[in-house]
Order: sequence, then structure tokens, then C-alpha cells
Amino acid sequence: MLPMVDLQGQYKILKDEIEPKINEALSRAHYILGENVNKFESEAANFLNVKFAIGCASGTDALLLSLLSSGIKKGDEVITTAFTFIATAEAIAYIGAKPVFVDIDPITLNIDTDEIKKAITDKTSAIIPVHLFGLPANMDEILKIAKENNLKIIEDCAQSFGAKIDDKTTGGIGDAGAFSFFPSKNLGCFGDGGLVVTNSEKIAGNVKILRNHGSSVRYYHDRIGYNSRLDELQAVVLRVKLKYINQYNQNRHKVGKMYNELLADLPIQCPVILNDRDHAFHQYTFLSDKRDDIMKVLQDNDISSAIYYPVPLHQQKVFKNNANGTNVSLPITEQTAKKCLSLPIYPELDEKNIKKISNLIHSVF
Ligand SMILES: *Cc1c(COP(=O)(O)O)cnc(C)c1O
Repeated sequence: MLPMVDLQGQYKILKDEIEPKINEALSRAHYILGENVNKFESEAANFLNVKFAIGCASGTDALLLSLLSSGIKKGDEVITTAFTFIATAEAIAYIGAKPVFVDIDPITLNIDTDEIKKAITDKTSAIIPVHLFGLPANMDEILKIAKENNLKIIEDCAQSFGAKIDDKTTGGIGDAGAFSFFPSKNLGCFGDGGLVVTNSEKIAGNVKILRNHGSSVRYYHDRIGYNSRLDELQAVVLRVKLKYINQYNQNRHKVGKMYNELLADLPIQCPVILNDRDHAFHQYTFLSDKRDDIMKVLQDNDISSAIYYPVPLHQQKVFKNNANGTNVSLPITEQTAKKCLSLPIYPELDEKNIKKISNLIHSVF
């Protein structure tokens, strides 16, 4: 079966480089917040062109720590998209704030900035735009809205490592950016991992304390924190992969462009590539009324495909009572969830398979 992302293939390529470094870290035995975490944090900050980067245990925690460190608290409303992975809204709910879901733009599939404006109330304290599938959200407009209404911006960058708007990297545009290193992400480790980035010394200081039991001096605790550190062994993996991330993202982009060209003649909506921003192509996701037929043909030919995401968050049972919830209607989001399909995409995916997939999709029409 051709996978959505070929982690085994990538491991084979990197094995000889990663394994000696893992062994070295194992024998050094500084397993928690060791030198690889430190070095990865400064290398990542450098790469993303931000002042501070702080490792943590997952992308979900990166969102949680970003919200807490930016002063978002119980009872606040946080505006976000319903067309995303659950973690975006879970982080809001963890602190007793209320996720307020608004509709998406039909072309970019990212949060619709006009809808953000309509949803602002006295209680709104933050916006979480998601750079979905690797395409940066409309940050110029979101920055303007946040400034006018005194709101914080936490960017959900779980799918956008290295994506840029003009020359600004996602994560460094809002108050804080939350990255995930879940294995299948553009930059993925061999387990769970996450990163908060920010240009604010205050937010960075808060994240550092919160990820380590609310303590900056060992055994002195000023507030209730968490155990949420980036693992030393995962940092070893990330330091190796960070060296190749530009190449990975360029290759993903090539794959995305080739799909777009090959599928251009079909009555489907391909992902947009915009002039002012990079698409990191975490996923290649198109919209079609024949989504289910396409999925079946691919499946019959041993090719994976996946629906990200079949149930938008405002329709999830869990958000019935603690969000603006299931009584809200988000027509574009709902239509998109019925039509979206994601194809295999990863840096090593070759032309032969891309053509094969395109031909199979053509056979449906
Ligand atoms: C993967 C993902 C997360 C969560 O990251 P984890 O590291 O799995 O906790 C958050 N938001 C989005 C959009 C994601 O895709």
C-alpha cells in the first residue's frame, strides 16, 4: 500500500546519521533538558527567525502553554476555525476558556477574517489561526483585527514548519507560535514533541517555567505548572532533520505543484498556491463531489488517501456544551468536510506514483 507519508523510507535514509547521535546521547545520560534540547531550541529559533524557541512535550501542549503564557484565562473567548484537528480547540478548553468557532474561506480553507470580526465580544481575548495543510492563514488581516481589538494571536503551526508569508516565517508573526513534531508532520520526530516560539521575552519566560513544574529554580515553585519538556532523544532526531527541512519542504512543494498541474483539467478544487506565501504542503487536499468514488478507486489500487477532517469541531459531541457549539452553522466548513480528500504527499514521493494517482483520479470522471 502506498502510504500517506513514508516514515520507514525516510528512516532508512537517515539511519546512519541519526543512530550514532542517539547512542552518544544515551551514553551521556543527560536525559531531561540536556544539550540537544538546548541546541535544538537555538537552531530552531535561528531557522524560524524568532528570538525564543522553547521545546515541550507535544503540539497540543505548545498551544496550551502559549495560551497560558499569553495571559488567556478561564471565561475568555478564543476565536478559531472548526476545520482543524481537535487539539486546536482542546487547548482552549483545558484552561476553561471557550472556543468560538467561525467559518473558513472557501478557497484557502483557512479561517475567514470577516467572520472573526463578527464573532468578537467583550470576552474575546485571543485568536488562534491555523496554517492548515501548510498554507499560511491571512496574517496581515488577522494582525490588524488583533491590534484594533487588543487580542492576542497564537498561531497553530503544527502543519506549517518553515512556511512563510513574504519573508516572515509562520510562528513569528503573532504573539506566539505552536509547533508539533508528531512523526507525520513536515518536521517530525520519533514520538511526540512540540515547540513554542515567540519574540516576547515575557511569554518565553512564562513558557519555560510552565513546562517545568512552574519552577525556574529547582524545587522552588511560583505557580502550578506542567511536566511538558521536549525529550532529549527526540531533540537529537530533530537536530538532524532540521538540516534537511528546506529540502523536504521544497520537495513537498514540487509534489503539490505536480498534482495541481496533472489534475487541473478535472472539475475538482485543487489547493491554491498564492504569490505572497509559501505552501508547506503538509497535506495535499482537494475538494470534489466525487470524493468517495475517488477514495475507492485509490484503495482498490493500493493507494492510501484520507479525509482531513470528516467532522468539523463545531459538530463534535465534546463541544456541544463548552463552545459556541453545535447550534452554530458554518456552511463553508460543513461543505468542505463533505468534499475534502487528501492524497499521499512526502518529500520522497516519486513522479511515477504521482502520475499513477492522477490517472486513477481521471478514471473516475
Ligand atoms: C497535529 C496537530 C496538533 C497537535 O499536535 P500534537 O503534537 O499531536 O499534540 C495541533 N493542531 C494541528 C492543526 C495539528 O495538525
